[in-house]
Amino acid sequence: MATIFTKIMNGEIPCHKVAEDDHYFAFLDINPLKKGHTLVVPRQETDYLFDIDDEYLAGMMVFAKKIAVAIKEACPCNRVGVAVIGLEVPHAHIHLVPMDSMNDLNFGNPKLKLTPEELAETAGNIGKRVRL
Ligand code: 5GP
Repeated sequence: MATIFTKIMNGEIPCHKVAEDDHYFAFLDINPLKKGHTLVVPRQETDYLFDIDDEYLAGMMVFAKKIAVAIKEACPCNRVGVAVIGLEVPHAHIHLVPMDSMNDLNFGNPKLKLTPEELAETAGNIGKRVRL
């Protein structure tokens, strides 16, 4: 059965898309730690990030870098933090989170409640800055 992220990438479940190419997809996390919190997902279904083969994983990191550059331009922050958790969704993904302090990357923090309009605007602002 397809994972929830595959269903998102196939358009069966809506998301606020940031960017995509033939191999990878980026969209806003539905429960963001910070405005601009984005997930980078490979089209290939692999549960654990470090089970992905080298070349495909390297490509994913380069794709994530391009998304992070766009996040930093669209959502002013000190750095874009990177996290791999993967305890909820068994489809490898990288969290990219705009950070001003270490605590911004604390997944125990309460999640932001953003309106669909805010999420759409944020995804658009990041997406238009992505240079693939
Ligand atoms: P993890 O697997 O890294 O522990 O957590 C999965 C992440 O995916 C969580 O931050 C959660 O908010 C996000 N997530 C789970 N389901 C959906 C969904 O249907 N849409 C979006 N946009 N994000 C999701």
